[in-house]
Amino acid sequence: MNARFKQLIFAVAIAASVAVQAAYALSDDTTRDLDATGSAIRPAPADPAIAHALQQISPQQIQHTIETLVGFHTRNTLSSMTKDLPAGQGAGAAADWIESEFKRYSDACGGCLEVRRDTFTESPQSRIPQPTTISNVYAILRGSDPAQAKRMVLVTGHYDSRNTDTLDTHGEAPGANDDASGVAVSLECARVLSKIKLPATIVFVAVAGEEQGLNGSRHLAKLAKSEGWQLEAVLNNDIVGGNTTPGDTLQNKSLVRVFSEGIPSSATPEQAKLIQSLGYESDSPSRELARMILGVSETYHGIVNVRKPGPPSYFHPVLEFRRDRFLRGGDHTSFNGEGFAAVRFTEWREDYNHQHQNVRTENGVEYGDELKYVDYQYVAHVAALNAF
Ligand SMILES: [Zn+2]
Repeated sequence: MNARFKQLIFAVAIAASVAVQAAYALSDDTTRDLDATGSAIRPAPADPAIAHALQQISPQQIQHTIETLVGFHTRNTLSSMTKDLPAGQGAGAAADWIESEFKRYSDACGGCLEVRRDTFTESPQSRIPQPTTISNVYAILRGSDPAQAKRMVLVTGHYDSRNTDTLDTHGEAPGANDDASGVAVSLECARVLSKIKLPATIVFVAVAGEEQGLNGSRHLAKLAKSEGWQLEAVLNNDIVGGNTTPGDTLQNKSLVRVFSEGIPSSATPEQAKLIQSLGYESDSPSRELARMILGVSETYHGIVNVRKPGPPSYFHPVLEFRRDRFLRGGDHTSFNGEGFAAVRFTEWREDYNHQHQNVRTENGVEYGDELKYVDYQYVAHVAALNAF
């Protein structure tokens, strides 16, 4: 390459970088991406019907849902097989109540929701000592546009809970944060979105068996695959209570983490190799979904009522470029496994003293997943983010 040509390339590179810097200086918000002409990409305009629905999201209704779920004493999946629990306790009673809530929302919208309860028997495996019936409860809001009704979005949380011993069918297992909070998001989205017409179909889900090995979500993901559901987005909410431990100063009530896988877990070895060779590791459908959630949050965060009384000035997702938290798993991975785009919402900072623990005080430390650590307003923010 001759010297003049090198100089030309150098000059073009300098000019390009100056142009980009100028574009940033011209835009009023340097954190925004730029389009091909150097203009800042603006959030899409809000849909008035969705904006109205978002304003109906109620921290009080979410509190009612979480308190009712905790009131079942335990929602351990294996408790569905016990005969000696008092009435109103156990996973079966919780499933009955969730189903009745979906039906109540449906009655309020002239039967707009198809409420389903899919009960199946799981054969014995490591955390399931005997054949166990598991119920997924869900409600389908069909899209109003025939051309788009086949497109489906699924919002899910798991209603089963556990304490220190995942096989304990009788001990107290409140599961207020893990994962009554996620079920509350699913139910609240169903309540407010069933009041409006949406072009595509939404499925609001509460699964069980998560703590035994993602059994409920795996069953549903396989069903969706076998029935050819055109699932374009799966939003899994698990531990979205905004854990509030007295003295913890590192929790951030303005942020929620959104986890997405890189190389799709459903990719064949050949496909994975191709993805790596082309450098597409960060462009999976799930990761694109996560980016879309961040983009849409810019459109709607300003019109959500629940943000008014509380501290967050801009409640927003933080994209975590990994499948899940280190050494942890969740229901979205069941859908990833069947080739669907699926992400997980989880509070900014988790406190393991308040997950999967028997309720107790030891050496002055309180353990247990109790109501008092849940911030209903935080859950409302997450619900709003899902409803976008
Ligand atoms: Zn969980």
